Amino acid sequence: MKEKKGLINPLDMYYTGGYERQTQEAPGIQGRMKPVPDCGEESYVGHGRLEGRKALITGGDSGIGRAVAIAYCREGADIAINYLPEEQSDAETLAKLLEKEGRKIVLLPGDVSEEQVCNEIVKKAYEELGGLDIMALNAGMQIALKDIADLTTQQLRKVYETNIFSMYWTVKAALPFMPAGSSIVTTSSIQAYQPSKDLLDYAGTKAAVIAFTRALAKQVAEKGIRVNSVSPGPIWTALEVSGGQFPDKLPEFGQSTPLKRAGQPAELAGVYVFLASNESSYVTAEVYGVTGGEHTT
Ligand code: NAD
Ligand code: MG
Repeated sequence: MKEKKGLINPLDMYYTGGYERQTQEAPGIQGRMKPVPDCGEESYVGHGRLEGRKALITGGDSGIGRAVAIAYCREGADIAINYLPEEQSDAETLAKLLEKEGRKIVLLPGDVSEEQVCNEIVKKAYEELGGLDIMALNAGMQIALKDIADLTTQQLRKVYETNIFSMYWTVKAALPFMPAGSSIVTTSSIQAYQPSKDLLDYAGTKAAVIAFTRALAKQVAEKGIRVNSVSPGPIWTALEVSGGQFPDKLPEFGQSTPLKRAGQPAELAGVYVFLASNESSYVTAEVYGVTGGEHTT
């Protein structure tokens, strides 16, 4: 979608059709999705709201993280993107897209379910950007399972390590580098509030993300650092086509929301920009829903 201007009905925006059944191995590559998610590549226009800022975005190659990366960069921030090595193709198309913005784009492949990797990406982001004052902690995995009997301890550990342990490790490593005025934005989910029966492990991690966000916000307030979370509803991303949803649920994905469609990653960018910028200077320990009307409380 081109730049969004004037009065537009949200029911008619972006993709409103049914989605094709499709599956990929996790982590999914968004360049192979039909249709490819809209991360604001053509539509996002910056207004200098993050001029001179230095941001690390985990899971930044695709989906919501990619939309955040595009927006932060066009708002004037230098950015470092973390993702899994298997996702190099999505990371490279992003870097190519943003090349012309005149900002620094640092690519940091690595698995955040390992503490050592979290330490390394934070250190590299700080060194290569020459500072660190925004972190969008957005990496996440989701594997739908019908029965707790099939939930292996290996999956349980991996999902918790990726979705929530990584936040502790990344924040612990980053706080010594982050000056007053910095902002941390986590990605939680509507699953924290309305958990699905097929996502026992994932929903638990997302509830933990919200408690972590709020507790951390109170702990670091005295340093002048704000911490908030975004809770998306159904958003068309690679996570959903690589095991996050059962394939037979994809055609109607998002259509039961009041806005009758799935959201596109581009529709999340504005909230992440607001929470990172000085415009939200009195906002901390909050959770913002972007749910198509499903609401979070
Ligand atoms: P996505 O697959 O495009 O992005 C998720 C990213 O997480 C991947 O690109 C990958 O780089 C990263 N990731 C996963 N495991 C990792 C690991 N071990 N190490 C490093 N990076 C890893 O899908 P998305 O939907 O944009 O997901 C972004 C966030 O949004 C996730 O936290 C997800 O739980 C959350 N979320 C998504 C939805 C939705 O409907 N798509 C809804 C609510 C919350
Ligand atoms: Mg990806």
